[in-house]
Amino acid sequence: MNKRIAIFPGSFDPITKGHQNILRRALPLFDEIIIAIGKNSSKQNYFSIEQREKWIKQVFGNEPKVRIESYTGLTIEFCKKVNAKFILRGLRTSADFEFEKSIAQNNNIMAPEIETVFILPIPELSAINSTIVRDIIRNGGDASPFVPKGIDVKAPN
Ligand code: ADP
Repeated sequence: MNKRIAIFPGSFDPITKGHQNILRRALPLFDEIIIAIGKNSSKQNYFSIEQREKWIKQVFGNEPKVRIESYTGLTIEFCKKVNAKFILRGLRTSADFEFEKSIAQNNNIMAPEIETVFILPIPELSAINSTIVRDIIRNGGDASPFVPKGIDVKAPN
């Protein structure tokens, strides 16, 4: 049987406890999950790809089902390249839902063989997002309650 491969695309700028929660809970559903760091030219990132990847490795490096890659271009094209039939996304709010709905429906028109799967975070994590974490770091605050244990987020040099 074909391996059930999902990609979990995002900026992970930086990885948060919200990302961690979604990925952990999706693990039993798939044989492999590729954390796919999107290199989006129109989006200015705060941390370098290398730094973001390093933190993700710290969290999931020992998980045999998880691989980390970066990509440019359309997410569905990356799925085809790595033979993934599932796109994993987290839904925090109704705004996320509206945004994700149109992307997933349009992806379905372009690539009906690829299914988008949504997971809701546990309630206490639904207020966490990377934008807020970056803001805290930029202003010298302590972001440790929002990022996975052991991740030492500091402003880039
Ligand atoms: P993107 O720019 O693609 O939204 P992010 O790194 O912000 O990249 O998010 C990647 C995925 O993780 C998205 O599906 C997003 O909804 C999900 N996510 C981020 N934070 C949380 C959270 N606190 N709870 C649930 N899902 C989350």
